[in-house]
Amino acid sequence: MVMEDVFEKLRSLQDILSQKILLEQEIQELPRELTTQEEILARLKRSFIEKNVEYEKTRSAESEFRELLADAEHAREGAEKNMDVINTQREYEALDKEIRDAAEREQQFRKDVQREERLLAELDEQMRQSTGLIAQQEKELTGRRAEIEVEKAEKAKKIKELEKEENKLSRDLDPEVFFKFERIIRNKMGRGIVAIKGGVCTGCHMILPAQFANVVRTGEEIVFCPYCSRILFYEESDQDEEQYFETEDSGSLSDLDDIDDDEFDDEEEEDEKVNADYEE
Ligand SMILES: [Zn+2]
Repeated sequence: MVMEDVFEKLRSLQDILSQKILLEQEIQELPRELTTQEEILARLKRSFIEKNVEYEKTRSAESEFRELLADAEHAREGAEKNMDVINTQREYEALDKEIRDAAEREQQFRKDVQREERLLAELDEQMRQSTGLIAQQEKELTGRRAEIEVEKAEKAKKIKELEKEENKLSRDLDPEVFFKFERIIRNKMGRGIVAIKGGVCTGCHMILPAQFANVVRTGEEIVFCPYCSRILFYEESDQDEEQYFETEDSGSLSDLDDIDDDEFDDEEEEDEKVNADYEE
């Protein structure tokens, strides 16, 4: 294959791989949209459970007060009945006191019952609202989940289509070159093939040694930038002639074939420049 054809294929592949990588990232990020809604739902459910516990407690307190009230009523009524059968002033006074005490307790327990009843009604209303909110939130979440599944499926379908193109284009390429090319596109956000212009890599803006630039110019083999690992192609520049011989000792080259991920990490500053250029 003529080198220019290889470069052309790589450029097409670059477009396809960038789109594919973007879609893959989008698929991964889609479920995260649900996190906030899921948190709200969990909070609502927790609050409902707490209210329910409080409701049960209140209900048992209410029934205790009701029993106490009934006891007091019973005691008062019994004492009132006894009023008919007393004979002495002393008996009268004792019974009268018994009736007043029982009536007092009755009054207090009636207030207690009423207070617990109000609390029950409030809790009941709050739980009713909570139930409505939970149902609404669950409905929204189910709807959004279904939408996300559809979006995911659409994106996965696009990825499949892109992969068909990718396979067609990469068929004639050296698998090792393709592997490195895909990796560099993933690491450098979309650009895996860049021009060398005036002896400078337009991907990372590093000056490349003259003999290196010459290899790229002859176009006989695929050459990776020793600094940013991108594939280089030659592009004519006005300053080329001077640059070629001026850049002979421009720093050391890293191993051309085995650029590992640590080295990628060291290049963040360069990446910013690269991205800025890319967005223009
Ligand atoms: Zn470079």
